Amino acid sequence: MGVLLRGGLVVTQNSKRQTKRMDILLRGNKIAKISQKITEKPEFIIDCSNKLVLPGLCNTHGHLAMTLLRGYGDDMPLQQWLENRIWPAEAKLSGDDVYWGSLFACLEMMKSGTTSCADMYFFMEKAAEAVGKSGMRGLLCHGMIDLGDSEKAEKELNASVSFINSWHGKENGRISCSLGPHSVYTCSKELLEKTVALSKKKNLKIQLHLAETRKELNDSKKQFGKRPGEYAGSLGLLTQNTILAHCGWLSMSEIKTVAKKGAHVSHNPESNLKLASGIAPVSEMLEEGVSVSLGTDGAASNNSLSLFGAMKTCAIIHKANRWDATIVNAQQTLDMATVNGAKALGINAGSIEEGKLADIITLDLNSPSLNPQHNLISNLVYSENGSSVRDVIIDGRIVMQDRRVLLFDENFVIEKARKVAEGLVGRKG
Ligand SMILES: [Zn+2]
Repeated sequence: MGVLLRGGLVVTQNSKRQTKRMDILLRGNKIAKISQKITEKPEFIIDCSNKLVLPGLCNTHGHLAMTLLRGYGDDMPLQQWLENRIWPAEAKLSGDDVYWGSLFACLEMMKSGTTSCADMYFFMEKAAEAVGKSGMRGLLCHGMIDLGDSEKAEKELNASVSFINSWHGKENGRISCSLGPHSVYTCSKELLEKTVALSKKKNLKIQLHLAETRKELNDSKKQFGKRPGEYAGSLGLLTQNTILAHCGWLSMSEIKTVAKKGAHVSHNPESNLKLASGIAPVSEMLEEGVSVSLGTDGAASNNSLSLFGAMKTCAIIHKANRWDATIVNAQQTLDMATVNGAKALGINAGSIEEGKLADIITLDLNSPSLNPQHNLISNLVYSENGSSVRDVIIDGRIVMQDRRVLLFDENFVIEKARKVAEGLVGRKG
């Protein structure tokens, strides 16, 4: 029964961070057995003798359907980009757009080795349908924005609750739902407080953008008399259930609080660089023991959803920024994309160990980027871009085999996404 990955070079990401040649037997949606030689007869065997086997990567921040806006307004100042390009297009979005944009995003992520993702957007029922169809695992939330309007706040909360009620735990648990207050500057204090109360009552995760830009920091000081992290903390938003996206402008004291409270940070280095938001104090976060994971953010601000790209960028920018080539090393960066990412999303994955969820990818060991093999972790972080990914297994199911996606027609999805994207930007509002 099950799937056997035979003879692969396994980067386990277990507590000893061992890499060894092993057989891996999957049963149901779990890793049942890891051993040098497994004799059980499985239903399906993947020959991994020329493959590197790695836990599937976890993308802890993004807006899936923004794939439709990839390349639609680049090299622009943030505010202009939002006001003239992104917001007007988003105002015209339909549920159908979100479905195809999200499925397209899942395709891109699977092709580059991502098995779990976070999503904050609109028409979330459609996003959930797409994630369900693709075979991916997702932590999804309706992005709430009330701009101080209490009627809107109520509507946003209701939309979140109804989405959570219909989708949380669906697709054999592959889909989880969270609360998604967009940020402390687009949500009223009341909405944020209600979010915290609901999260506590129902043990729900919260996804929140925090301290993304210098403008947000300055506005927060003026409006609340506090830095964004201090304000979020005062409202009870910093808990083990919270994923804080960006955190580019946290002070040392805010970093210490985030570490103490056990809140998770999703670092989005490429989005931060592209939008000129700044460079997050990641080495300081790691030193203080913050659990830092990696996100790509939406495709409009990256513009790629490859976590291999995010890993490389992450591992090199902090070195240059601090004039210190020893910080944010390859192993720490791989941990962010695997172990820490799974922790942030609240899933029992991120490493290849018996009993963990069977979210596993394989890469072609004969690929140029993975050779020579002096240090496979370095190769994965500094030279691989995702194109060596061969097989993707999520929840024990093979969803991509030898780069061929199995659960949907990938060419049809690309074609459809292209048409939907053209329709969206051409549509009268
Ligand atoms: Zn974002």
